[in-house]
Amino acid sequence: MTMFDPRARSPLIADEIGTILRRAPVEVLLAYPNTYRVAGSSLGMQVIYRALNSRDHVACHRAVLPDDALEHPGQVPVHSLEFAKPLADYDAVCFSIAYELDLAHLVLMLEGSGIPALASERGPQHPPVVVGGPLTNSNVLPLGLFADVVVMGEADLAVYTLLDWLQERPDRAALTAQAAGMPGFWVPSIHGDAVPELLSVRGDAIPARGVWHSPQAEFRNMMLVETSRGCPRYCKFCVVRAPVAPVRSPELDQVVAVLDRPEFEAAPRVGFVGAAVSDWPFFKDILRAALERGKQVGVSSLRADKLDDELVDLLHQGGYRTLTVASDAASQRLRGKMMKGLRERHLMEAAEQARRVGMKLVKVYVIIGLPDENDDDIQELIDFGQRLSKRVRSAITLSPFVPKLHTPLAEAPFEPAAAQTKKLQRIQRGLGGRVDVRFDSPRQAWVEYRLSQGGIQTGHAVLQAARNGASLGAWKAAFAELDRRLPDEERSAVQAAQRHGLWTLTGAR
Ligand code: SF4
Repeated sequence: MTMFDPRARSPLIADEIGTILRRAPVEVLLAYPNTYRVAGSSLGMQVIYRALNSRDHVACHRAVLPDDALEHPGQVPVHSLEFAKPLADYDAVCFSIAYELDLAHLVLMLEGSGIPALASERGPQHPPVVVGGPLTNSNVLPLGLFADVVVMGEADLAVYTLLDWLQERPDRAALTAQAAGMPGFWVPSIHGDAVPELLSVRGDAIPARGVWHSPQAEFRNMMLVETSRGCPRYCKFCVVRAPVAPVRSPELDQVVAVLDRPEFEAAPRVGFVGAAVSDWPFFKDILRAALERGKQVGVSSLRADKLDDELVDLLHQGGYRTLTVASDAASQRLRGKMMKGLRERHLMEAAEQARRVGMKLVKVYVIIGLPDENDDDIQELIDFGQRLSKRVRSAITLSPFVPKLHTPLAEAPFEPAAAQTKKLQRIQRGLGGRVDVRFDSPRQAWVEYRLSQGGIQTGHAVLQAARNGASLGAWKAAFAELDRRLPDEERSAVQAAQRHGLWTLTGAR
């Protein structure tokens, strides 16, 4: 057992409010494979942190990706934020993972700590590695080489089953044997690429609520509470569309009761989380309740067709200075094809509402490279941007379309980065500096695409890329090597799903 200083709290959490500082006979590490800034704003991680700290016999501490882990792959050890205890000394290591590109970070956190990243190379002396989180809602297969156990989908309740097992301090073999027989637990060493169906909690597990708030988190000094889970809509590109994640919502008084909890009273800001927050019928009521309690507010997503003057004014009173809405496609034709259910006039009205209450900026999210997108669609976006900028200062953020499993577009093509770059340049030229055009890197999106579509063996590319610092060049070389070694069908998550007849991977239902 390595020595560590139990008083050495990480500076990252020096100003965090809500930290749980407990020691117990069984200690579990909850890791987030990204920076504290991102991890600190994950409501899912907070729910699991609270659950794993809910029994006397077990304590849970957290860890995040060290700042220099990418510069020195495999050489930067990970310690808990609460007690600076090395990751390898924990009885179990759990990861909460949200994004494909964080797969490489997960590898770096394990290898930097002396735990083999490949599950097949770990022995009885190593802690079991359990993974869950939003990434399991799309393609989980590239985790298969690294995880001993994966909790599929919504883990709010499954975490207590895990806790039952962990408090007996099982070794890896015992834990995987227990998990393999339970619905919603994927044990890659036993199940191979036949992943179980996603877990879905009932409404009584909602609303999830936060544990901590911090000035160093992306959602600065903000306590988070859920106002809905899933979505009632059917946008074809989205992994939380109704057939996969049906909507479940709390009553107003349940969320108001959360605002009155002591940990929420102590926070200057409160953030309302959900895929469809503005669809929640009590949204204005909860904004009023937050304002009455002197809070600033944040909202995870807003639909332009759900806004009106009163609602936008409430947001403004709650500290909003930028109104962010999603168009999600370049043209009306594509929004229709994607079943977005939104028209340009909704976006224009939202801009007017923002202007009227004195907001400084309207930001619109657009997905580029959707199937069948053509020159006319791009021209319509340029025309829209020009009209928008005459009403209010505007920004358009362009994100490359990445087809995801569990959606009807799972098998759609990814537009080559060169073609996307041409479109981005055309949009920038067309808007002539009148709109602040930002875009996510098409090359990075290509990496996300490969990970979104890859089978279990894709983990080898993750391992190689991580060991080479996870730069774009490292990812490209790693996928080239994978493509040389493996036939198509062993690289494809869609084909794995088809082999096993899994509806969940193609969203066929
Ligand atoms: S894009 Fe938004 S509105 Fe559409 S299904 Fe997804 S969460 Fe719902």
